[in-house]
Amino acid sequence: MKIILLGAPGAGKGTQAEVICDRLQIPTISTGNIIREALKSGTEMGLKAKSFMEAGQLVPDEVVIGIIKERLAKDDCKNGFILDGFPRTIPQAEALDAMGIAIDKVIDIEVKDEAIIKRMSGRRVCEKCGASYHIDYKKPSVDGVCDKCAGALVQRKDDHPDTVKARLEVYHNETEPLKDYYNKQGKLTIVEGQDSIEHTTALILKAVEA
Ligand code: ADP
Ligand code: ZN
Repeated sequence: MKIILLGAPGAGKGTQAEVICDRLQIPTISTGNIIREALKSGTEMGLKAKSFMEAGQLVPDEVVIGIIKERLAKDDCKNGFILDGFPRTIPQAEALDAMGIAIDKVIDIEVKDEAIIKRMSGRRVCEKCGASYHIDYKKPSVDGVCDKCAGALVQRKDDHPDTVKARLEVYHNETEPLKDYYNKQGKLTIVEGQDSIEHTTALILKAVEA
């Protein structure tokens, strides 16, 4: 199964992707995580992306499209995958179609802007493996330490409130039109993000298995 998760930054795409990944045994491909990795290891692509990312702007289409092409060509994507954070613009969606990749389902997680702004301040990510946590909603077993790899949990630079506002604006302008794009292809399911992660997960799994 080939699934796209849509939704505003902080809507919980990453968290839900992990659940679907466990359930269906297909990899999650997060362009955000791939870019952060590149940034950490100081590759040329990372350097190109840095200023955009830190300002809450999108990294140019040709850069992310290149990343996705390379990643989807790997063996582990043969039986399907979950895209978390791609596509984020119409040209990115068109590039995916042009690659001849037949997406089965697009699940959009809807969360109101006010709730997103509140949530983002508590979000933490593992410096080492990119897993995401929340200081109230998704606590690690030990404060500040990743359950999976024992890496340190940090706040992302782009999770600071001013940057979050910029990211939401970008989302409404550039990414939200994708709902219409995939609705026209008959692939869109909208899930209302709930206050509890488990409730959202239940709705997402229902949408995946429908
Ligand atoms: P979130 O979903 O919480 O916004 P991500 O980790 O998906 O966070 O993305 C963080 C940043 O990485 C984005 O603000 C953007 O700068 C860059 N990025 C990730 N995916 C894309 C994409 N598909 N197109 C352009 N930029 C991207
Ligand atoms: Zn980790």
